[in-house]
Amino acid sequence: MEKIVSDIIHTLKQILPSHRPIPLHEPFFYGNEKKYIIDCIDSRFVSSIGNYVTEFENRISEFTGSAFAVATSNGTSALHAALITAGVQPGDEVLMPALTFIATANAAVYCGAVPHFIDSCPKTIGIDIEKLETYLETATHIKNNTLINNSTGRPVRAIIPVHIFGMPVDMNRLQDLCQKFRLTIIEDAAESIGSFCGTRHTGTFGSCGTLSFNGNKTITTGGGGAVLCKDEDTAHRLKHLTTTARCTKARWEYFHDRTGFNYRMPNINAALGCAQLEQLPQFLTKKRELAARYAKAFDSVKGVHMLKEPEYGKSNFWLNTLILDKPDRKLLEDILETTNSMGIQTRPVWALMNTLPMYRKCPSMPLECAWKLENSIINIPSSINLLD
Ligand SMILES: *Cc1c(COP(=O)(O)O)cnc(C)c1O
Repeated sequence: MEKIVSDIIHTLKQILPSHRPIPLHEPFFYGNEKKYIIDCIDSRFVSSIGNYVTEFENRISEFTGSAFAVATSNGTSALHAALITAGVQPGDEVLMPALTFIATANAAVYCGAVPHFIDSCPKTIGIDIEKLETYLETATHIKNNTLINNSTGRPVRAIIPVHIFGMPVDMNRLQDLCQKFRLTIIEDAAESIGSFCGTRHTGTFGSCGTLSFNGNKTITTGGGGAVLCKDEDTAHRLKHLTTTARCTKARWEYFHDRTGFNYRMPNINAALGCAQLEQLPQFLTKKRELAARYAKAFDSVKGVHMLKEPEYGKSNFWLNTLILDKPDRKLLEDILETTNSMGIQTRPVWALMNTLPMYRKCPSMPLECAWKLENSIINIPSSINLLD
């Protein structure tokens, strides 16, 4: 075994409890989950109507400081609805990192738009804002207040920054760039509930921001998502679009004024979410402690480093991220193989979007850093119980 592999294993064993297997990320239900779900079942309102959905939306907007929050069936549907509501139209291009989860690209395509891929920043692993600026200066021009891709002639309407593994993108800097290039921001904050830029929560900078409450995320509703937005009109449009666009003034008429979606979050999922949100502050404290332990322990291991929180913000440390100093696919596979066979679940990062068959021909800037990260990132166990 290569020394680096045995060093990594030794370090993981130092920190992790002795039971096996240890999953990458597990949900925990220490609070009012059963109470609220039983209440929900007893009320018989387990589905599309019920008080927990509104309660959950209110609590999400309170926690994030977002003026409004609209709950949805999952993070992907939240992104889809957010993109439509923010004005993404068929034939538009939408900028996004090549290094992201598939949902980011899929949601743009659901709108009839074309993903346009951006390189990653080695420090934050999110989009590289500086490189993006240089790229847009040569690859695009502004016409009638719209950014146009010089080579495709299509409008480049929007950008989706992704706060990967909870590490915040520098939203203040990105906002300046987007003003200059007339870009609408929709934040994919699926992984970053509890992450901030300064004192402002991720997902509240863009015209919309989206969250996911899938089972592997920091808090879960089983399956679920939410869109954060700034004004009541946008919130109404999001609610309308995600609830089949039925006319709310109807008494019993089934009148729908556009092709909407059934992207509702069921009441029983929202009940689970209310209980999870009550525990979020404790979860975040535990995640921060675990990240600090990992950072300290891996400090002395040669050839790898932990992804660090940027100086301008706070991460929720959803998934702890080990990065090889030099990209090396074979070494990466060795580490994955060894750790997983011992019952310590580790995972590589996603394949770059531009390598997938359906997105191979999408426009892209050069992706030097994204290629390196694809072959250097290993996520290590990050559940909140690991230090108990
Ligand atoms: C989880 C996730 C989503 C989608 O959320 P679902 O609830 O699984 O649909 C979108 N973007 C990113 C970056 C994610 O990690």
